[in-house]
Amino acid sequence: MIAEGAIEIIRAEKSKLQDINLENIPFGKYFTDYMLEADYKNGEWQTPVIRPYQPLMMAPSVAALHYGQAIFEGIKAYKDPAGNGYIFRPFDNFKRFNLSAVRMAMPEVPEEIFMDGMHKLLQMDINWIPNQADHSLYIRPFMFSSEEMIGVKPSEQYKFMIILSPTGPYYNTPMRIYVEEQYVRAVQGGVGEAKTAGNYAASMLATAEAKKKGYDQVLWMDALEHRYVQECGTMNVFFVIGNTAITPGLDKGTILAGVTRDSVITILQEMGLTVEERDLSIEEVMDAYKSGELKEVFGSGTAATISMIKELKYKDFVMEWDVEKYTVCQQVKTLLNNIRYGKSPDTHGWMYKI
Ligand SMILES: *Cc1c(COP(=O)(O)O)cnc(C)c1O
Repeated sequence: MIAEGAIEIIRAEKSKLQDINLENIPFGKYFTDYMLEADYKNGEWQTPVIRPYQPLMMAPSVAALHYGQAIFEGIKAYKDPAGNGYIFRPFDNFKRFNLSAVRMAMPEVPEEIFMDGMHKLLQMDINWIPNQADHSLYIRPFMFSSEEMIGVKPSEQYKFMIILSPTGPYYNTPMRIYVEEQYVRAVQGGVGEAKTAGNYAASMLATAEAKKKGYDQVLWMDALEHRYVQECGTMNVFFVIGNTAITPGLDKGTILAGVTRDSVITILQEMGLTVEERDLSIEEVMDAYKSGELKEVFGSGTAATISMIKELKYKDFVMEWDVEKYTVCQQVKTLLNNIRYGKSPDTHGWMYKI
């Protein structure tokens, strides 16, 4: 834990919790009583502060608003049947956050601020982790350049924050996916493996156009040949062909290294499937579909855990699956959720006790 005095705490007069009905809450709309804030200036991190959740005061010249040095993470905290609070794999998010920071020429956040700060914040807002089945508390760490300066160069000041939002069950209906050929998400040498704000801004037009055509999301393809599968919206993607699960590899730096992706790979292997992390072309996907070997397609991410894909459309070719027959996907989701909600033993050391 943080040493005495290493974190400043300003208490709220009263909790907002009793004013909020945690049933049927929309994702990301309500925030807890507290937030964590730490500033970087003069080449060093200042004492973090936990204070009541409130608006920020900023100058219009703040660099992040103009040039987009901004990164974030998405993590979840759960309650086990006994009511104890746990965070799922936060160290993995901490490491990924600092990889994103390095890529965006931002300072790394020390473990005492990210991890101990998160721990303390969660302790103060522990009652906000819902008790109801399938609910959780979404943790959003983020950092942006906060220097008041209009000039294209790395900022000399940054603000790191953590905010928390209770979330209800994620009823994800099986998705219809449009294989995107015009727009691209990530190119080798670019920022595809960083969880940086601009990647999401850049994806919105393609997603909006796919929605207009009646699809839920796009499947991103590689930027050079528009041939190799990358990710599905903001989820990693898995294809079950025979007894093998294939997911695009991380070697090109164009794919976000999902913590859920990594957990799913581990669980698939424990279920006895072979997992291949490698290039997968759309031709290979179509061939496996035509031969009947491509059994299941699904996305993975923190918000929905696993999202079934029931249709892929590539040019004029439509691939459809009966998701009622998806057994692998269902099993992975159940096994993963049982670990997250403390219903089965945490044999991998994934759960961090609050
Ligand atoms: C966050 C994210 C994912 C999923 O990562 P998890 O750590 O599993 O939540 C996948 N793709 C993109 C582009 C993302 O931003």
